[in-house]
Amino acid sequence: MTTTVPLDFAFFRRFLDRAVEVVVASADRLTELDAAIGDADHGANLKRGFTSAAEAETVAAASTPGALLTAVGAHLTNTVGGASGPLFGTVFRRMGKVLGEDAVVAPEALGQALAAAVRSVRRLGDSAPGDATMVDALQPAADAFAAALEEGGEVAEALRAAARAASEGAEATIPLRARRGRASYLGERSVGHQDPGAASSALLVAALSEATYPELAPRRQEKEEAAGADASADAPPPAPARVGVVLVSHSRDLAAATAGLAAALVGTGDPAPVALAGGLPDGGVGTSAELVRAAVAEAGAGAGVVVLCDMGSAVLTVKSLLGEGELADTRLVDAPFVEGAVAAVVTASAGGDLAAVLAAAEDARTYRKL
Ligand code: ADP
Ligand code: MG
Repeated sequence: MTTTVPLDFAFFRRFLDRAVEVVVASADRLTELDAAIGDADHGANLKRGFTSAAEAETVAAASTPGALLTAVGAHLTNTVGGASGPLFGTVFRRMGKVLGEDAVVAPEALGQALAAAVRSVRRLGDSAPGDATMVDALQPAADAFAAALEEGGEVAEALRAAARAASEGAEATIPLRARRGRASYLGERSVGHQDPGAASSALLVAALSEATYPELAPRRQEKEEAAGADASADAPPPAPARVGVVLVSHSRDLAAATAGLAAALVGTGDPAPVALAGGLPDGGVGTSAELVRAAVAEAGAGAGVVVLCDMGSAVLTVKSLLGEGELADTRLVDAPFVEGAVAAVVTASAGGDLAAVLAAAEDARTYRKL
């Protein structure tokens, strides 16, 4: 998974679609963070802004990376409400402006766009690192991206470094006293709480990093095409639904890379639906029930869903959700993660039914290496 990904329009559209997914999946958590030190609206604010941005006509009309980010930024400023609207609006618009009209963005230009966006947010909010705001996630992300490129890293690596730095920066706001925004009204009482805007910023940087995995991508496009096909009376009958595969790993990167490997081994251009529940919503290592639920909903196409887990809490979370009857038409497979995932995706892509996909994945357990 070290092939260089072009930073073209499709990349930035994947970023937007992934941003919508993570914001929706994490909205409750972001609102809880805001309830502790603000007014309990941050998750709802972002959910409203990002879901509507992905469907806005102004966004759909964009055909270059710069135009797309600019349109998203304008839309966020108009629709998010709360301080984070204009602040994230500035991030996107500023990035869009720096990227200009290029069809494919050079990694260095992305670095310049990130740095410029952080400068603009700092100016707009009169904020600096250490004030316990989104700047505490965004500044380290921009710095880590630039440093990784400077050391000769390729863009996907640099984005992963940025996502890690943003996540660490968000965590590091917990012991800080908030000096900007509503949370600053609490004074010392803001200490001990993670800043919600830093948490959401880390999610957005992680979404940018995940856009480097093209095989995760065109879910939205597929869904739109499927919806269009349903709407049209003359359209050919839809292809039979295929079994979906969900990969639950403690690590977001591991889940994504495993999906990439499986997609590469499918060989056809049309793999079965694969959805990921990798790591925690903030990019950390762990298992998130919300991400598991969202991934099962995403992968389900009507023919059932097969779940592969790595270990420990991944297995326990899926088992407990299954036990509570929360995951309809879903089966957990007793199989090694990588081998089982490949077998499941290959078999589901070939049109195997739920029993066939389960059997193929479980077979991977009996394959001896010595
Ligand atoms: P509001 O505070 O108006 O309810 P949100 O809850 O949507 O808006 O967003 C709050 C987040 O916005 C904070 O967690 C913080 O990260 C960010 N924020 C607020 N004010 C500033 C500022 N002056 N500079 C930088 N970030 C800020
Ligand atoms: Mg708020």
